[in-house]
Amino acid sequence: MTTDRYSILEIIGHKRDGGTLTTDELHWVISAYTAGDIPDYQMSALLMAILFRRLDPDELAAWTEAILHSGDVMDLSHIAAPKVDKHSTGGVGDKVSISLVPIVAACGVVVPMISGRGLGHTGGTLDKLESIPGFRTALTSTEFLAGIDNHGFVLAGQSETLVPADRLIYALRDTTGTVPSIALIASSIMSKKLAEDIDALVLDVKVGSGAFMKTLVEARLLAETMVGIGAAHDTNVVAVFTAMDQPLGREVGNGNEIAESIDVLEGNGPADLTAVIYRLGGEMLVCAGLADDLEGTRSLMDEAVTSGRALESFAAVIEAQGGDSEVLTNRALLPRAEHVYALKAPRDGYVTKCDALDIGVAAVRLGGGRQHKDDAIDPGVGLTVAKKLGEMVQEGELLAEIRYTDATRLANATALLEQAWEIGDDPPGPYQLILGEVRQSPPR
Ligand code: URA
Repeated sequence: MTTDRYSILEIIGHKRDGGTLTTDELHWVISAYTAGDIPDYQMSALLMAILFRRLDPDELAAWTEAILHSGDVMDLSHIAAPKVDKHSTGGVGDKVSISLVPIVAACGVVVPMISGRGLGHTGGTLDKLESIPGFRTALTSTEFLAGIDNHGFVLAGQSETLVPADRLIYALRDTTGTVPSIALIASSIMSKKLAEDIDALVLDVKVGSGAFMKTLVEARLLAETMVGIGAAHDTNVVAVFTAMDQPLGREVGNGNEIAESIDVLEGNGPADLTAVIYRLGGEMLVCAGLADDLEGTRSLMDEAVTSGRALESFAAVIEAQGGDSEVLTNRALLPRAEHVYALKAPRDGYVTKCDALDIGVAAVRLGGGRQHKDDAIDPGVGLTVAKKLGEMVQEGELLAEIRYTDATRLANATALLEQAWEIGDDPPGPYQLILGEVRQSPPR
């Protein structure tokens, strides 16, 4: 049994008191936890100590390396096409991957994306996809590779054998308040992504109330950490900062967000969501060498959408993963909670706050996310945001339509939603969506 080599109690105490852990200790922790030899409560204590005491660059490199090699890594060397992935640090209404991946794949990029589940108050791509009837996100390695070979992408989670340590730690962090740590986020994202054998990675680093990084300064530190890990592994990483003070798009909740993603693939997505998708997709196409600059990527993505190719490849992947692609033409097949509550404006004015964090936590309270590790998700609950920042509203007008199944959960959610919106006499300043970027080298 691996537990004999070190004492987990001493390791927790050492980190709690601000000490530095050795490479060997960190590798041991990851392998012992993955093997089931360290219980969740001790790992949670260590994660909390890391959150407060941080990891120095050598500790972070060792921690990331240990997670990356906790299981298999992919070998996609047989694929000649450029392999580029995208990852988000997580936000509210962040459904970007669901339409972005089919769009860039239709442009000729292979995207071996491994997606995640909801984390804290942020939704997860896998939970959203599983609201498509029959859709399976747990693929075997053979199915994963077949999907990449046949369609240029899959929409799946980590297999049992790929970076198992991150899968386990991620689920633990989600329910132990240990998400917003630069070291834990950077190692979680980069270990998964480096296991995919990609040429380049585009990161969507969210900033604002509904993000884990509340300020641009923190977000920049996270982005630089991830770009640095990429450089140490010869992988080109570009990080784009995008605003997360209010939800992205108008839909929040698993089934709702699939419907809005279909809108994007039909060319009818909301402006903010579409702008983020085009910016990140543009970066992916430039990294892939399919365009010289961002300007040149627009027409490629427009064509993938207007020709219907992106939607067709989404349909093909839904079918290949056991889902019902009829949802693309018949939204009524998506889960939709039976009851509706209308949240109304208390006065006339302009929306000066439409808080992503409150709305994200409310969506979890409705049952759209997890409070405990093994909670089931209710895919039909969620919100449709009628009024966002800067929009004019009249007293009694709809701010959001809330879909719910349980009246107690609704009461818990509305307690937060009542404070999520603020209405003032004057419009707020412009909402800047794209806040900058960090790259290893200038775009070609
Ligand atoms: N996405 C991840 O994969 N991990 C994190 O810790 C945060 C966002």
